[in-house]
Amino acid sequence: MPELPEVESLVHFLRERAVGRTILGVDVVAIQALKTFDPPVTALGGLTVTGVTRHGKFLDLDCDGLHLVIHLARAGWLRWREDLSGAKPVRPGKGPLAVRVRLAHDDEGLAPGFELTEAGTQKRLAAYVTKNPDDVPGVAALGPDPLDESFTVDALKRIVGGNRTQIKGLLRDQKIIAGIGNAYSDEVLHAAKMSPFKIAATLTDAQIADLHEAIVATLREAVERAHGLAAKDLKAEKKSGLRVHNRAGQPCDVCGDTIREVSFADSALQYCPTCQTGGKPLADRRLSRLLK
Ligand SMILES: [Zn+2]
Repeated sequence: MPELPEVESLVHFLRERAVGRTILGVDVVAIQALKTFDPPVTALGGLTVTGVTRHGKFLDLDCDGLHLVIHLARAGWLRWREDLSGAKPVRPGKGPLAVRVRLAHDDEGLAPGFELTEAGTQKRLAAYVTKNPDDVPGVAALGPDPLDESFTVDALKRIVGGNRTQIKGLLRDQKIIAGIGNAYSDEVLHAAKMSPFKIAATLTDAQIADLHEAIVATLREAVERAHGLAAKDLKAEKKSGLRVHNRAGQPCDVCGDTIREVSFADSALQYCPTCQTGGKPLADRRLSRLLK
């Protein structure tokens, strides 16, 4: 799943390639992906892409004041196409293609564009056409952006204070902090040497400062690694840069202990016992059930 660093990189990627170009048309292939009907998606045709920004994990293309807001969800991705002029018309219901944005021809006669694709059977990718990105419920509800300068140690202190949820869940909650998902919350907690099950409200001032440092440093490093990469290379880069996420069974880079996993109904978290939980493995209910 693309999280803040990958979406940030897509923003830069699209700024270089799409800004200044006129939209020829937007083809919605997966009808459920389009969450708005007024203004219609056809209203984007003929407009020029004037800016690209990010709100948490949402991508926002400003097209002469009308916005195409995109959430790639868990299995969605953006694929840049150098030339769509020969692309076949798309038929709904076949394959991973959800939305295709066709841009005007350039000097060389190529008609570039990009496609939003979504793998798997759970279709969560979402596109919105709106005059105001804040009208998108998920955008309006976002908490502070961890790379914004207003996200200080004191701001994090206010967020965790009195919050009785586990820190892993808190970090992933977009309404609390925007942009961090399952992968980077694992990475942040490993960097902060903190158990994912720790209750937020029990953090000391020193631990909050460490957590803040881990959040900002982890995301900044990932943004830097992803910077300048083509959209198609981002997934591999994200994977290679992760220290604990999806690395169960492998040795920890920091201490050499074996990275462990806790499974839930539809996700899993990974952590290093020596770095994060005083050497003690966390209870994994699925595993205990299997062992019975
Ligand atoms: Zn370790």
